[in-house]
Amino acid sequence: AKAAGRNNVSFFDPAMEARVSARAELETDLRRALVNKEFELHYQPLASIGGELSGVEALVRWRHPQRGMVSPAEFIPVAEETNMILRLGCWVLIEACGLLARWAGDERTAALDMSVNVSAVQFHRPDFVEQVMAVLKQTGARPDRLRLELTESLLLNDVESAIQKMLRLRELGVRFAVDDFGTGYSSLSYLHRLPLSQLKIDRSFIWDALKEGHGAAIVRMIVGLGKTLGMSILAEGVETPEQLSFVMAEGCHYYQGYLYSKPLPESQLADFLHR
Ligand code: C2E
Ligand code: CA
Ligand code: CA
Ligand code: CA
Repeated sequence: AKAAGRNNVSFFDPAMEARVSARAELETDLRRALVNKEFELHYQPLASIGGELSGVEALVRWRHPQRGMVSPAEFIPVAEETNMILRLGCWVLIEACGLLARWAGDERTAALDMSVNVSAVQFHRPDFVEQVMAVLKQTGARPDRLRLELTESLLLNDVESAIQKMLRLRELGVRFAVDDFGTGYSSLSYLHRLPLSQLKIDRSFIWDALKEGHGAAIVRMIVGLGKTLGMSILAEGVETPEQLSFVMAEGCHYYQGYLYSKPLPESQLADFLHR
């Protein structure tokens, strides 16, 4: 092993070594963060195409003691590789359902939907359905206001078991959305077999649509497909009035993006809800 190490030039590559140790540090920090409760949820308001608040998407944030806010794009992949996403995902679900339960008591918030991102690692656990049921029971949240966001690749993996899990939760009223639709391997052949209520069009297509290229055609195709299958269509990442006019003209039902609101911490969300 010693000889192999000596001959392995890349082992001494300082850039690679830096990457490896940064990654190891992130992993250590993540473990500590779970214990020290350094995570919080922000909530991005979702709007009907006419501008009426319809619900929120819960988005996890990590308040790192030295680095400040760390983006989920950086730590979710590491949490998935290390299975820490199981505990983090469970925490996210409890937190989001807790807020959902508190909303039930106020007529201004009782009809709002809560969307929660679910990682493939979480979803494919044999006890995923039981876990969601336990959280709903524990928090007292209404299942029919909860929407779980899944990715295309997650749904492609072991379709039969995915359908069974979704149907069991669907029976309780839980709904499902496909996140970032169009960016993964689309499974047009069995999209219709999955009990999905919403397609979320990835923001890259919304952005491309008003530039050169095929974005507009792709958005049109996704809207047509979703409507044919009886799903609602949400346009992600709407930042400008022009983009809103476009997705409205294409027949999207809902939108989300900085134009309507950025993701908000819970206290600011309360102001937004009661404005
Ligand atoms: P996503 O599920 O596609 O979430 C939407 C992302 O787009 C969020 O990034 C949101 O802040 C951002 N966004 C919303 N509107 C706009 C806009 O108008 N312009 C631009 N440029 N961005 C916009 P965020 O919060 O950084 O999250 C990134 C990704 O991390 C999420 O993408 C999701 O895949 C993952 N993620 C976040 N929270 C969770 C979680 O609790 N569990 C899991 N498994 N994944 C999560
Ligand atoms: Ca999402
Ligand atoms: Ca998305
Ligand atoms: Ca995304």
